[in-house]
Amino acid sequence: MKVQIYGAGISGSYLYHLLDQDGFEVSIYDVRSKPDCRCAWGFSYSETKELYKKIGINVDEFLLSKPKYVIVNNRLWLKNKEIVILDKKRLMEELWSFELKDEGGDVVVDATGHSRAILPKIENDAIYTTVQNVEKHDLDENIYIYMVKTGYAWAFPLGDGRWHIGAGDMSRERALELVKKLREVYEIEEVEGECNCIGKIRLLPPSKCKPIVWNNVYGVGEAIGCVSGAGEGNAPSLKCAKIFYDCLVENKLEEYEKRVLEEFWWIEVEHEFVSAVQTGKKLKALRLLPKIIPIESRRSVEQSFETIKSLLGLLKQ
Ligand SMILES: Cc1cc2nc3c(=O)[nH]c(=O)nc-3n(C[C@H](O)[C@H](O)[C@H](O)COP(=O)(O)OP(=O)(O)OC[C@H]3O[C@@H](n4cnc5c(N)ncnc54)[C@H](O)[C@@H]3O)c2cc1C
Repeated sequence: MKVQIYGAGISGSYLYHLLDQDGFEVSIYDVRSKPDCRCAWGFSYSETKELYKKIGINVDEFLLSKPKYVIVNNRLWLKNKEIVILDKKRLMEELWSFELKDEGGDVVVDATGHSRAILPKIENDAIYTTVQNVEKHDLDENIYIYMVKTGYAWAFPLGDGRWHIGAGDMSRERALELVKKLREVYEIEEVEGECNCIGKIRLLPPSKCKPIVWNNVYGVGEAIGCVSGAGEGNAPSLKCAKIFYDCLVENKLEEYEKRVLEEFWWIEVEHEFVSAVQTGKKLKALRLLPKIIPIESRRSVEQSFETIKSLLGLLKQ
């Protein structure tokens, strides 16, 4: 059986190596000639380490920073447990040891992220715009967030005084406005960046990204909504690729969609929570909190009912 992967981002490149090392006939193609370097370098450590170990990668060799706190709106300080910043550019460059080939296959994987270039388009898709800069600043190594109901701006430390500064919201203008607020709130100067770019992110859970499977095409990663309500898509996309690989190896591809929906129940809950917050359904948001807290305490920061409740109070439109 020949497998053709489209998209050599985080999930596609990982899936390629899982299959290749097992002797599968597999090829991979990307519209880029070199890996995407956008600032998406925050990873949930334990899950990422475990998954990459399966293709012989030790993520500790790519570790740039383990921020102490995630600070929200300069009011809420959440102790970081699991978020690490990895040198994703170097990691992806290492993984791109393959030659890009578009040869087709008996099984086709759409791992093209927000583009979802192979699977049919999603009705009522939710694609947000992001802006990103790399800048130098003298700040303590925390993650600085400025959050409103519809999006947030961030400053992620890359070590050696370098920072990813960016934001995501419903439009470029709103994202730029959020970066401005982030600078004001944390007194981060506007300086000449090393580079800047615009990106996109899909914020819909897997159940709303159907079809997940279409004829012989299987969606993997962000193409089928493996991104949390907080915009975490790296580890979930890797996990999704691993589910696909398991189904293929076990000769149970017919179970793929079911396994994806079961695994990512927590992404469904997070999106429900975000939607309740955005539409002002405060009671519903509060009711979901007991489910959200253990999820995020496991994969990102220490939090309690009280801290998250106070976060809700901090959010403006
Ligand atoms: C600015 C920004 C910051 C983010 N920060 C974080 C973060 O800190 N932590 C986190 O966990 N998540 C973050 N995310 C989300 C995360 O980056 C994505 O969810 C994750 O990369 C998705 O992985 P993927 O493999 O599905 O798609 P991608 O990694 O996006 O890869 C898709 C690939 O498909 C290729 N492609 C597109 N169209 C075609 C086509 N027609 N044919 C072939 N190839 C194609 C693209 O060139 C790309 O290489 C961020 C996203 C953005 C936009």
